[in-house]
Amino acid sequence: MQATYFDGRSSRRQTRHLLAEPGCLILRSQEGERRISLAQLHISEPQGSAPRVLRLPDDSYCELPQGWELDALLERLGHQNSPVVQLQARWHWSLATLFGVILLLVAAYQWGLPWGARALAPMIPDGAVQQLSRQTLQALDQNLLQPSQLAAHRQNELRAGFQTLLAADPQLAKYNASLQLHFRRAPKIGPNAFALPDGQVVLLDELVDMPASDAEVLAVLTHELGHVRHQHGLRQLIQSSVVAAVTAAYLGDLSSLTAGLASLAVTASYSRDMEREADSYAIDALRRQGRSPAALGSALEKLAKAHHEIDHADGWLASHPDTSERIRHLNSLP
Ligand SMILES: [Zn+2]
Repeated sequence: MQATYFDGRSSRRQTRHLLAEPGCLILRSQEGERRISLAQLHISEPQGSAPRVLRLPDDSYCELPQGWELDALLERLGHQNSPVVQLQARWHWSLATLFGVILLLVAAYQWGLPWGARALAPMIPDGAVQQLSRQTLQALDQNLLQPSQLAAHRQNELRAGFQTLLAADPQLAKYNASLQLHFRRAPKIGPNAFALPDGQVVLLDELVDMPASDAEVLAVLTHELGHVRHQHGLRQLIQSSVVAAVTAAYLGDLSSLTAGLASLAVTASYSRDMEREADSYAIDALRRQGRSPAALGSALEKLAKAHHEIDHADGWLASHPDTSERIRHLNSLP
């Protein structure tokens, strides 16, 4: 076949006539003939319809238009495309590979990430978790939270109730250093209670004033202890950080990772599975103490109603998805 030849030193186009024998390429011109073994050739992989480049050991090269002539030449020469190219040539394989990669990414996000976070969470040193939680609470105190206005005797009653919840689950003992109940007020958030990764639980006046009975407040706190017990806050934080880190690495911008890590601790919403886990912890724990899990259902109902009325969609409802489904489940319990 005819090929355009460049000597590798000038941009002058020349013409060569190419012939092939098994394992050997022959370049023919007016000056004569040149034989090059297949092993010394570098043949570019096909890319679209662009001419393929055949590089010779002295850096000269030929440009070869794709087509049956080239295919015949390469076949006679004994050149085989790499297996990847052979696969690429078959578009359905390419498509299948693409689907495979997408499935893999989705699976990694859906199952791999939560699994990794669950495995990693217990390995993070308590000191680091406590420091992170302390800083988070400080940041919240500066921005969103105000001192509680709940009467001292009311705080004491609820704190005593919280202590009985702790005493009822020996497994919570490992959080003893930091497991405490904080009272705060937050008109901007509305009725809410949340746990920090190290086990500190913040109860907002607005939840007590909904009004909620002691049984309902304690049921919500038990649910929060479920999040603590299963390290949901920490796991969520790890997951969000990994996503942020991957995104940052992909986009080449690491500043987005360092910005607002602490805020993730509270704004990141728990997954459906985590809510279910915290609910079933609460149901079991409340039953073990002779309390009724129905109190959690009625508390959720009041929370949903309160947030609906004051339209704080970023509060409890956002951090606790599927509320109505959960209420139905809790109310259906024997
Ligand atoms: Zn929850």
